[in-house]
Amino acid sequence: MKEFGYQRVLDVPGAVALLGAEPDARYLGGGTNLVDLMKTGVERPGLLIDVRDLPLDRIEATEDGGLHIGATVTNSDLAAHPEVRGRYPALTQAVLAGASGQLRNMATVGGNLLQRTRCGYFTDTAKPCNKRVPGSGCPAIEGEHHNHAILGASAHCVATHPSDMGVALSAFDAVVTYETADGPGELPLSEFYLPVGDTPHLETALPAGALITGVTLPPAPVATVSRYRKVRERASYAFAIGSVAAALDVQDGTVRDVRLAFGAVASRPWRALTAERLLTGGPATAEAFAAAADAELAAAEPLPDNAYKVTLMRNLVTAVLTELTEEAAR
Ligand SMILES: Cc1cc2nc3c(=O)[nH]c(=O)nc-3n(C[C@H](O)[C@H](O)[C@H](O)COP(=O)(O)OP(=O)(O)OC[C@H]3O[C@@H](n4cnc5c(N)ncnc54)[C@H](O)[C@@H]3O)c2cc1C
Ligand code: SF4
Repeated sequence: MKEFGYQRVLDVPGAVALLGAEPDARYLGGGTNLVDLMKTGVERPGLLIDVRDLPLDRIEATEDGGLHIGATVTNSDLAAHPEVRGRYPALTQAVLAGASGQLRNMATVGGNLLQRTRCGYFTDTAKPCNKRVPGSGCPAIEGEHHNHAILGASAHCVATHPSDMGVALSAFDAVVTYETADGPGELPLSEFYLPVGDTPHLETALPAGALITGVTLPPAPVATVSRYRKVRERASYAFAIGSVAAALDVQDGTVRDVRLAFGAVASRPWRALTAERLLTGGPATAEAFAAAADAELAAAEPLPDNAYKVTLMRNLVTAVLTELTEEAAR
């Protein structure tokens, strides 16, 4: 492992200035992803700037009735927060579906959004990988890809984004806030992750050196009846092979409002807007849910070993929306 420096920072402008002065520095959240990647040589920073003492560890109500979640809030504190549990239950469920208790105690909101793909070629520096070494190729397409993307991928990369939290945040229209040397900025999560195209190494639209300061959730009454369902290859401590964050408002058998986002099927949390449009104003029936899932998944371009995800996602959407319909009727 390459030698590196370590420095704690206590204020946001100081953190941004330090990163600006040290081009090979990285912000350090809980370190649960970055340090693993440093051990394997995928990441080789010269300096770690520990952001955990920054005053970004609060969850606060916004004036319009939403929530602002600081970037250094741990996954555990986020999942346990009463306002999150009560108003955005799918977010609590998504966070609790990820990693382990110990990891969630360390992992931060900012780090979770920026965690890297779990593609085995990306983490193995002996292999080519366009995301790690641009132009070196994508061996996953002809090789091991059973848990790779079916939506929005390209001939240059078929990796998925591993975050569970991000899927629920996407369903609820989260906005990422950040700070740069030129001042603060914000990005809707829908614009935060870049399309893969021929530049899979460029993952987000964050300006260079930006420090994520938090995530803002707009008010979403529909989110009170919401659920996150994750399918994985073992019951705990595993990444998703497919997941759904869903929220539903049904009145007199008609869908008044619906939110739907998919995980583990694309390079980013996949907001299922086509399905949402089809469902809104229509009947809340299993047939309608399946048809909406089919419409969303019509864009899928599976590889030989991950075509199962199309059926998996269709069944997940149908089951979760049916459960939410029953919950709303109680
Ligand atoms: C065994 C294991 C199982 C896991 N299972 C799951 C799972 O099932 N689901 C899931 O979603 N996740 C899972 N994870 C991933 C885990 O959730 C992430 O490692 C974690 O959320 C990353 O947060 P962190 O604060 O530790 O980030 P770090 O490792 O500290 O940082 C990750 C990246 O974010 C950058 N960064 C951190 N904070 C900021 C900031 N404020 N501004 C700008 N950049 C920043 C860092 O520079 C780095 O590039 C698992 C991890 C492990 C090790
Ligand atoms: S899928 Fe992406 S991350 Fe995996 S080998 Fe191909 S380019 Fe690399």
